[in-house]
Amino acid sequence: MSRFDFDLLTIGAGSGGVAGSRRAAIHGARVAICEGSRVGGTCVIRGCVPKKILMYGSQFGEALEDAGAYGWRFGRPTFELAALVAAKNAETARLEGIYRRMLADGGVRLIEGRGCLVDPHTVEVDGRRITAGRILIATGGRVSHPPIEGIELALDSDRLLDLERQPDHLLVLGAGYIAVEFAGIFRGFGSDVTLAYRADLPLRGFDQDIRRRLAEAMDGRGIRLQAGFAPVRIERRGSSFAAIDGEGREIVADAVLAALGRHPNTAGLGLDAVGVRTRGRNGAIEVDRFSRSSVASIFAVGDVTDRANLTPVAIAEGRAFADTEFGGREQAVDHSLIATAVFSQPQIATIGLSEADAGARGHDCQVFEAGFRPMKNTISGRSERAYMKVVVDRSNDRVLGAHMIGPDAAEILQALAVAVTMGATKADLDRTLAVHPTTAEEFVLLRTPRD
Ligand code: NDP
Repeated sequence: MSRFDFDLLTIGAGSGGVAGSRRAAIHGARVAICEGSRVGGTCVIRGCVPKKILMYGSQFGEALEDAGAYGWRFGRPTFELAALVAAKNAETARLEGIYRRMLADGGVRLIEGRGCLVDPHTVEVDGRRITAGRILIATGGRVSHPPIEGIELALDSDRLLDLERQPDHLLVLGAGYIAVEFAGIFRGFGSDVTLAYRADLPLRGFDQDIRRRLAEAMDGRGIRLQAGFAPVRIERRGSSFAAIDGEGREIVADAVLAALGRHPNTAGLGLDAVGVRTRGRNGAIEVDRFSRSSVASIFAVGDVTDRANLTPVAIAEGRAFADTEFGGREQAVDHSLIATAVFSQPQIATIGLSEADAGARGHDCQVFEAGFRPMKNTISGRSERAYMKVVVDRSNDRVLGAHMIGPDAAEILQALAVAVTMGATKADLDRTLAVHPTTAEEFVLLRTPRD
């Protein structure tokens, strides 16, 4: 009989924590998970899922407009944000119920309350001490606000998801995933939207041609882009707000979204007292490739480790941890090739190296690209174009990166990601027959490299 209450105690019931706990239970471990908020974590409650529901909601206006060109006739449509938010809340509540049932059915005990480390084998949850052979920290991330005066006047993405009254003019500060996604969503709802960011283009780190095309497409959809704007102050102006940059330029709007990054959620966990080392300015938990922290019995997965802050990565890390520690099979996640999508409008999806990164790593590259107006846009008269790019290593024909902006980019790239992960060459793409007529087929019809 073990001297501990459980073999594993997980802190945080989000994607990574739930996946790791359930997998450990499958391996026969006695597992408990504690959660101080709603079960499901960022992805289900205030991230990927609700965001995508709002994204779907935001696209009907465009669909209704296009329908006219396809022969449909309607009255003048109106939009009620509160109705969509209520439907979204009902769906996240349903999913939370499923998560709770999955834990119960999987034999994982849910302990409601915030966990704090007491020693390498003990966690205190609301005054109750629980011991475990191993502790998994999966507390995720939280919004981080840089030191900008008046930043508390801005909304964060958690609050924007629950907004019931649509602002006439929304100012979005930042140009990362969250900023461009919400800019597209609120523009789709019909708000005036300004996207203000300090770089020259949105989405730093993505392929330059994709970034440029996203900026053009957002502009084409009526989003005002303000590049080179680094806010230093936010002020209230009657019922509006003004963001002011270092040069005194100001942008006034009815609401401001600060989408200026997230940081690991480690506050109040008691890491220092137990000797769990953190790294960097944002205090991410330092782990090795097996998610082991500096304390032998304590592990961490997901955004709290700030490796790649994406739901599928947290899930994979959680499962790899459980397989290694409880399944007798050493598993580590390969973080070198991660497919990702940005649900901007139009969507972006990408895997592997951008053209610039491939060059910087010394690859002699060939670039294949296609830009075209998707068939659906021809009848509706929209000018927005789709674009794909494949970066190939000339020395061995291997596909180093694939990038797309356009309709269904995320769905298309997920399938292509299998081939790229398997080590596909350009010749493999060339001998793949096209599915016609589709947008996706362009990925296998790229013949002539760019000069
Ligand atoms: P990101 O790190 O993607 O972007 C942060 C943005 O804030 C950048 O544009 C950055 O500018 C800017 N910024 C940071 N500090 C300042 C400052 N002091 N002044 C002005 N601008 C500043 O963060 P997000 O909050 O958008 O997203 C957080 C994470 O959530 C992402 O990394 C992603 O992993 C995850 N996520 C994933 C999604 C998906 O998979 N579809 C969707 C949403 C989130 P600069 O580029 O110049 O540094």
